[in-house]
Amino acid sequence: MKAAILNAAPGRLEFEELDIDVAGPREVRIRTAAVGLCHTDLHYVDALWRTELPEVLGHEASGIVESVGSDVTAVAPGDHVVTCMTAFCGRCRYCIAGRLTLCSNHSRLRSRPQPALTTKAGRAVGRMGGIGGFAEQMLVHENSVVRVDDSVPLDRASLLGCATITGVGAVWHSARIEPGSSVAVIGCGGVGLSVIQGARLAGAARIIAIDVDQRSIDQALRVGATASVNAAEIEPVDAVRALCPGGVDYSFEAIGRRVTVEQAFSMLAPGGVATVLGMVPDDEPLRITASELFFQEKRLQGSLLGSNQFPTDIPRLAELYVQGRLELDEMISLRVPFDEINTGIAALREGGVNRVVVEFA
Ligand SMILES: [Zn+2]
Ligand SMILES: [Zn+2]
Repeated sequence: MKAAILNAAPGRLEFEELDIDVAGPREVRIRTAAVGLCHTDLHYVDALWRTELPEVLGHEASGIVESVGSDVTAVAPGDHVVTCMTAFCGRCRYCIAGRLTLCSNHSRLRSRPQPALTTKAGRAVGRMGGIGGFAEQMLVHENSVVRVDDSVPLDRASLLGCATITGVGAVWHSARIEPGSSVAVIGCGGVGLSVIQGARLAGAARIIAIDVDQRSIDQALRVGATASVNAAEIEPVDAVRALCPGGVDYSFEAIGRRVTVEQAFSMLAPGGVATVLGMVPDDEPLRITASELFFQEKRLQGSLLGSNQFPTDIPRLAELYVQGRLELDEMISLRVPFDEINTGIAALREGGVNRVVVEFA
């Protein structure tokens, strides 16, 4: 099968024919239908974050199950499925508490006796997040995949597995915002737009979208933001405080930069909660005013993939989409065929686009 491989970083994806192993007892082999391009993929291509190479990136994928291992019960051949990087064991203390993203057996679930993917020369090729969606087929653990109803088109379904679940999940599981709350969202890419939609679904009264790109702001206003701040033109913390005197109840950082995390904390009202979704590099230590933590009881927390419970979250999100209450069509700015995946990555790098979806023939 054909795969787009990252052999060196920074670099570009290279097409190669790979062998894919047969499904182990708890594995599922999937024919890929669509894969969304995520900034996490871009971070690895551009070497902002490092991973072991060669690797097939891509994790926000959808497809149709081709075959399943002998012990698989979650899905069956022919099922339409969405992948999620949150492989969970179901038995550790985190899984029992519903905190699947913290599963302590996460890496063991992805390991297998022999490589899932190999080059024609016999060299092992890794799969990002145990998925590897930039390929015609994927081999994943059954606890990395969930069935979606056939009524959800597979190109739009792909977004559910990362951008949507991260953004909506951060509202549902991490921040748990109450109806009537005031919310600010920094960064209106695929994740930020999903936070905005999650806040709308949760009944937030005010949702302030913050970005430096007017196209992203316009899109945020279309999916539920009630006000906006163009941070290229105005200092965002002051602007939020002008719109919402005293600050907001909840802020979300969906970019992954030190300065925007600090802004998210600064724009909170006393008792407010800032939730960080972006991947801030470790060499960028945060500076926050510690006295605000105790005198104002502000909180700063992280949310990995929206602290999701994807086996139940994704069917709910799919139903909200079918009902017209969750916007997915609007989230896709560009579609490219698999052969042109590097064009899609370049568009994501350039900015001003939300999701770019790669479609397989
Ligand atoms: Zn992602
Ligand atoms: Zn676990």
